[in-house]
Amino acid sequence: MDLILARDDRGAPEIFRSIQGEGPSVGRPRTFIRLSGCNLHCVWCDTAYTWNWWETPFAHERDTPGAPHKFDRVHEALRVELADIAAMVAALPSEGVVITGGEPLMQRAALPALIDALRVDQPALRIEIETNGSIAPPQDLADRVDLFVVSPKLAHSGNDAAVALKPDALAAYAALPAAMFKFVARTPADVAAAADIARQHAIARGRVCIMPEGTDSAVLDSRALLLSDAIIAHGFALSPRLHIALFGAARGV
Ligand code: SF4
Repeated sequence: MDLILARDDRGAPEIFRSIQGEGPSVGRPRTFIRLSGCNLHCVWCDTAYTWNWWETPFAHERDTPGAPHKFDRVHEALRVELADIAAMVAALPSEGVVITGGEPLMQRAALPALIDALRVDQPALRIEIETNGSIAPPQDLADRVDLFVVSPKLAHSGNDAAVALKPDALAAYAALPAAMFKFVARTPADVAAAADIARQHAIARGRVCIMPEGTDSAVLDSRALLLSDAIIAHGFALSPRLHIALFGAARGV
């Protein structure tokens, strides 16, 4: 069995060890596995190299005349056997693994076997999955995951709400104690939209964080300030993007 992974700048599978820069595990050492492919098409996506192929029609904010922010699937994605992924992760030991993307749940059928392979030599290895929350987790996956970081995409992402905000999928994550929610926001209105979703699905405020959108520290700082009153009013947490401050907007960090 194999999975389709993104590639790093050297063309190798994007598996790396770093400090988690955002969400509930911020600051913790983690080994990351970045899967290729996404069912959404956020106009500000910072990992568009996992889905925005040349042959697709999707717009991106980094498009410029004559130079769309597009990528060659052949050069950006590769199939890797589960045993090889497990060996690469074992060579980068840390207290937990983050399976991210793209949208990892697009390859959900293979994820339980991947997690089992990762835990062969480390049965207590912590497994976290970052997802856009539009695909409900199968039970055999939910049973194996310590933390889902669910990031429903709001209107400013440019996605159709009917595709990005699936009530059944959100309800499934809301019912999972192992799921926390991380909303990307640009304005206080986005925080209000996140609060509406939390209210609709009875998600306690302690399970919600708001993360400013951006790939530049100055933009992130100014947006965090802009969002702070609304975050306080709703009783949410503010998530930084620590990896941007530490390493910049690069792959494999
Ligand atoms: S859901 Fe995530 S990976 Fe997919 S397009 Fe949006 S930001 Fe990018």
